[in-house]
Amino acid sequence: MNIFSTSPPPKIAVIGAGPAGLMAAETLANNGILVNIYDAMPSAGRKFLLAGKSGLNLTHSEPYEKFISRYGDNAQWIKPYLDNFPPKAFQKWSHKLGIETFVGSSGKVFPEGMSALPMLNAWLKRLREQGVNFHFRHRWLGWDEKNNLRFNTAQGEVLAAADGVILALGGGSRPKTGSNAAWIPILEERGIQIAPLKASNCGFDIQWTDFLKERFAGHPIKSIRLSFGGKSQRGEFVISENSIEGSLVYAFSATLRDEIEKNGSATIQLDLMPDWTEEKLRKALSATRGSRSMGTFLKKRIGLSGAKAALLWEVLPRENTPDLGLVGATLKSLELKLIAPRPLEEAISSAGGIRLNELDENLMLHKLPGVFCAGEMLDWEAPTGGYLLTACFATGRAAGKGALRRLSRRQI
Ligand SMILES: Cc1cc2nc3c(=O)[nH]c(=O)nc-3n(C[C@H](O)[C@H](O)[C@H](O)COP(=O)(O)OP(=O)(O)OC[C@H]3O[C@@H](n4cnc5c(N)ncnc54)[C@H](O)[C@@H]3O)c2cc1C
Repeated sequence: MNIFSTSPPPKIAVIGAGPAGLMAAETLANNGILVNIYDAMPSAGRKFLLAGKSGLNLTHSEPYEKFISRYGDNAQWIKPYLDNFPPKAFQKWSHKLGIETFVGSSGKVFPEGMSALPMLNAWLKRLREQGVNFHFRHRWLGWDEKNNLRFNTAQGEVLAAADGVILALGGGSRPKTGSNAAWIPILEERGIQIAPLKASNCGFDIQWTDFLKERFAGHPIKSIRLSFGGKSQRGEFVISENSIEGSLVYAFSATLRDEIEKNGSATIQLDLMPDWTEEKLRKALSATRGSRSMGTFLKKRIGLSGAKAALLWEVLPRENTPDLGLVGATLKSLELKLIAPRPLEEAISSAGGIRLNELDENLMLHKLPGVFCAGEMLDWEAPTGGYLLTACFATGRAAGKGALRRLSRRQI
């Protein structure tokens, strides 16, 4: 539908062809706007495709209030955008694109096949059919003195004029996908306040003994409960050479990171046997060990072996055979000291970005009228579980609608 009477129609530049930028482009193109989308990379949605490699988790099916609460301190800020594009609408959007979705056992929503490629291909095809023009290998450099957009290309610098701009340049994790945060100095020069980017949904450094890292790096620790900062959750993580990684750790990453920033380290508690009550464990361990080694005894009595057993011996010195009461207590509450988040480059996502008070309710920068922003480049964070993509889509849509509103006001 074209709500604009001008010929040619108004022209909007969307910079960044990730989920947020593509959603903004679609919202605009659906309303008759001529959309030019620019990206520094040779193709669109590289981080989106990377996200699909481990099973693309689009959104979550839990009750909406709970869903909103996942955005922590920014829940109230992001709610109006999610209200306009909630998880159910997101799934409907996917179905309309021809990509069915399903709810996994944990309530997470995935596209059929779990990969991002079919969804991205179908989406790009539809956008092209809607008249969206793509300009790849165009690295945005800022504005010239006449307010033209400046792009670095293989042919040299190219200028572009537009009736409005949407920035959807991503955060700072996995910079090889194109989101390298090079936009920060460009916006700071214009007086925009940016909260420093920090690793979010990341692993944490830990000082393992040589034995543990040589024998068990890469091993998963499954079906455990992690507790920290008054929160407790079941799941699994992976022992890496100098760190712990994985969904269970990511779920705590914001509070762990903040604690380490404040106090230099963070100590987590692990329940390695969450299905065993302390009483059941105490009874099982009270049997006579006889001549059996401690390892054999624990394996036989409570099924403890492999990486989980190695974790126990990491904190209880095996030499002076500890008493079994202590073994039981440690299995229910094993402490690990985390000393630093892994670098931003390795993280799933980033915290920090454009401070939210720089934006009006249409996601337009107060200091740069006509420039709207969306996606991970804004200062919110969320755990994995589909919350990141849902918010990128929802803010992309809101930025597109904001630009539309501004254009229609100018028409009147
Ligand atoms: C391994 C991994 C797994 C993930 N899995 C999930 C998941 O299952 N579920 C989930 O919800 N989220 C997941 N995420 C997070 C999710 O992919 C991101 O939050 C999302 O892609 C961010 O979208 P965006 O559009 O804001 O930015 P991006 O996807 O980062 O896109 C930004 C775009 O801007 C372009 N750009 C940057 N700077 C410039 C410039 N100067 N000029 C021109 N173009 C530029 C980039 O090339 C890029 O194409 C995962 C992330 C990773 C790394």
